[in-house]
Amino acid sequence: MTTSSLFDTTLVPSETGDLISLTMPDGPTRLWMPRLVVFTPAALDEAHGQKILARARDLELPIEILPANRLTGLRGADARETYRKGKTTLAVVTAPAGQFKLQPIPPSADWQFHVAEGCPGHCQYCYLAGSLSGPPVVRVFANLPAILENTARYEKPNGETSFEASCYTDPLGIEHLTCSLAQAIRYFGTRPNAHLRWVSKYDAVDGLLDLPHNNRTRCRLSVNAVPVARRFEGGVAFVARRLQAARKLALPREKNGGGYPIGLVIAPIMPIENWESHYARLLDEAARALDFPCDLTFELITHRFTPGARDVLRDWYPNTVLDLSEDGRETKRNKFGGVKYVYARSTMKTLRAFFEREIACHFPQARILYWT
Ligand code: SF4
Repeated sequence: MTTSSLFDTTLVPSETGDLISLTMPDGPTRLWMPRLVVFTPAALDEAHGQKILARARDLELPIEILPANRLTGLRGADARETYRKGKTTLAVVTAPAGQFKLQPIPPSADWQFHVAEGCPGHCQYCYLAGSLSGPPVVRVFANLPAILENTARYEKPNGETSFEASCYTDPLGIEHLTCSLAQAIRYFGTRPNAHLRWVSKYDAVDGLLDLPHNNRTRCRLSVNAVPVARRFEGGVAFVARRLQAARKLALPREKNGGGYPIGLVIAPIMPIENWESHYARLLDEAARALDFPCDLTFELITHRFTPGARDVLRDWYPNTVLDLSEDGRETKRNKFGGVKYVYARSTMKTLRAFFEREIACHFPQARILYWT
């Protein structure tokens, strides 16, 4: 058995030598600890901001109270230093007025809202590179009660409305510092016609297990084939641990009246060498982790990138071996004319047929929500 870097997946050569499989690494869940936590004065006027301050003090994290509500001093001398400073800083701020005008987010949910922006992870394909500008600092919003209550304005008068909380952050990756996700789960537990969706590559779910979610939250874990995780993901939980987190969330508990509805988001799907074997292995491991009846969905997202995100990723990860070339890609345009590069139609067709077949075989009761 070999263990690669600290942030990496434990690898076990298979009997044939050409595959690697997931094993459960021992040891406690690893939690991100920022090197600096900064607070704006407005954030400290909020009870949620004060609680984050108390937690940061308990953890003896370096704290700075800013003189004004503007974040400054987060850039380094070059892109590398700016990245390093950003990814080790937690900024506690208040969400600006624009955050209260929600945007739709198909196909994932009706609306997106944000408890934070930025993520402590180091995934070389990170979609945030194309959606957030400036230093990659993690900003947490201290005016959380107002953010949650605002979602009620967007609930359909009749029928069910879904709200996605993970478009600009990984809320579980910072939950030990913020407790924002727990508060959101509690809030949506009181909304009979709305539900919360969140997704993570982390695994520290124990604090969420006994919350009164009332089946109004679907918790999803983002997983991938081991070689993709090993090469391109850093600072996040091992894939095997994410699958165990999904198991914990889905298992019925006495206190919350039953397990959470859960989901597996397989993203970004990449046709790497031996991709069928590696993804079949992932689904085998997932089936082993979820070997009991549960409300399970799948979301299947192939790798894609915009030219802007590619530039940022090349700045952040200059030595990446991630395939960001346009060879074998087709362009897709959004309604504003923006371009993104997706796999060629024939590749997409082959990948899709494989996943639909394998998921039906491994999880006959699960629903595939979308393929993209
Ligand atoms: S966990 Fe998600 S949001 Fe965080 S760095 Fe990785 S891809 Fe980006």
